[in-house]
Amino acid sequence: MKSQDSRVAAQRGLDCLLYGVMQQESVHTHLDSVQWAGALGFPVPKSDERMLETTRDIQGILDFIAHWNVARKELPFATDGVVIKVNDFAQQRELGTTAKSPRWAIAYKFESEQVTTLLEDIAYQVGRTGAITPVAVLEPVLVAGTTVSRASLHNADQIALLDVRIGDVVQVEKGGEIIPKVVGVDVGLRPADSLPVHYITHCPECASPLIRKEGEAKHYCTNTLDCPPQIRGRIEHFVSRKAMNIDGLGPEIIDLLVRRGGVSNVADLIDLRIRADENWRLNTVLYKSTDTSPKGADLRVHHVHALANWFHRTAGGQRASNPDQLHIAKGGVEAFCSTLEERAWEVGFDVKLPNVMAFSWPQDGMDWRVCLEMALFSHPHQLAILERAKHLSFPDELLVGPEALVWEVDGWGMQEVDWNALKSFLHRLTSRTRQRLGSVELSNLVRALEGASNRSFNQLLYALGIRHVGVETAEMLSQHFHNVTALGQADEAAIAAIHGIGPEIARSVCASFGDPYFLEVLQRLQELGLQFELSEEDATVRGSALAGQTFVITGTHPVSRESLADTIRNEGGKVVGSVSNKTHYLVAGEKAGSKLSKAEELGVSILDHASLLALINQSQSISDTESKEN
Ligand SMILES: [Zn+2]
Repeated sequence: MKSQDSRVAAQRGLDCLLYGVMQQESVHTHLDSVQWAGALGFPVPKSDERMLETTRDIQGILDFIAHWNVARKELPFATDGVVIKVNDFAQQRELGTTAKSPRWAIAYKFESEQVTTLLEDIAYQVGRTGAITPVAVLEPVLVAGTTVSRASLHNADQIALLDVRIGDVVQVEKGGEIIPKVVGVDVGLRPADSLPVHYITHCPECASPLIRKEGEAKHYCTNTLDCPPQIRGRIEHFVSRKAMNIDGLGPEIIDLLVRRGGVSNVADLIDLRIRADENWRLNTVLYKSTDTSPKGADLRVHHVHALANWFHRTAGGQRASNPDQLHIAKGGVEAFCSTLEERAWEVGFDVKLPNVMAFSWPQDGMDWRVCLEMALFSHPHQLAILERAKHLSFPDELLVGPEALVWEVDGWGMQEVDWNALKSFLHRLTSRTRQRLGSVELSNLVRALEGASNRSFNQLLYALGIRHVGVETAEMLSQHFHNVTALGQADEAAIAAIHGIGPEIARSVCASFGDPYFLEVLQRLQELGLQFELSEEDATVRGSALAGQTFVITGTHPVSRESLADTIRNEGGKVVGSVSNKTHYLVAGEKAGSKLSKAEELGVSILDHASLLALINQSQSISDTESKEN
């Protein structure tokens, strides 16, 4: 779902069942709210399938659990438990919530299912931070309704603890988590010649040596600058919403840019504004092989389609003007063939199409060149096309690369519509998918990258991904130093002296500004016109009405919590997650829970949205008066 390409997401056949309505005045129970949503047309769990039911006693709950413990295996999706809720909204409100969860709902987890299977191999994945995760490659096995072929092994210690070896029969469990895990080994079934696992010493993505820092469970790839997953991680951070907020760069596009588009750092990315022309686009191609070979039935339709195109034109000297005449449904092939025969007969051809095609229809698994030859049956350029195809590995290479057929250039005597039919046929024959930016996608990307020049200095500072520098720290640093030169020249002591910034952050900032590669990227970004100093607006508009004050936000407010937090930060206040005796104010909205009682206990001042705004106004007018007096 994270993929930015909606076509890819659409192919995944995602569906949902909505199980609750947050606010609806006219209904008073959970069951009614779900049925109300269902009446509006939302997909909801159905009472007649017992997916949702009410009961007045414990036995009813136990019956429901017993029912689903068996029936869940027949569901078309996986489920790991049921949720038991208080139905009446008024009672829910009365019960309230704890810091972590509501008091009116509880989950019941089914006992997780364990199965045994063969451990075929151990693969190693590299994460965005360079962390290595070993993954068990399993003989596919059905666990809790899904086929499992990979399971997590967590880290080297876990492998040693389980003493798991390649070739072992292992127990796999799919608990509450989505990723299944290996939980045990059947040592009795171990082959006599099995050897303990030697954990990898080098990165599987870039072959650099791995290190394991003291006290950490995971191994890390040391090649921070050039290891592809690590580059991808930095770019994902750079473009994320709170950083440079650049749209249209989902994980798949970033992967394409890093692997094929010459992007190794964020300066290379911004540089695409200049570099990414049509030629760059055509050459930035990533291939992935698909497991599905083209299906004979699909190809038959295409085959007949190709024949139809040819016959229509041969018969009348011109192609059919009505495109509907060319549309052939799978079931209508036979009927269509006899129509074609009649047309052919009318103009003096005596052909029996079904007979011609009975032996020449492409079969599943047939070599693609043979399929192509059949589809191009009686095509004027059959021989020339087949000659080029001889040297290629994949049919779609006829469309890209130096050997490609170019309709516009070679002419081919073909009409555009025939050319398009041939192209789609060649793609259908190809057992790999090609990923490349479309021309519209590219211009959108370039436009999004242009936007980077408008982002403020503090956004950029956060986007650079300096360790320990979060949104708030970036803002404090930019407010204090105003531009990158001053920040770069500051020593640890000067940075650590800023209120709210500790020595760890100061050390990390100085380390970055001492790194030649970091400085090189900075310089390029500067040349590319990004904001390296606080705009006058940002420096002056920002208030200090709440400077030095710490806030906690809880409950529902007339505005989102996010924007409430922004308001506080803009006035110099600090927003933290939990109430303590260092908290100055709790901003409590409706349905405030445990934080409110904790604040009352500690004697923390409590504000609502309106009184927060009043507090800001009041402080602003005081400071205005002071500045006038000064
Ligand atoms: Zn690596």
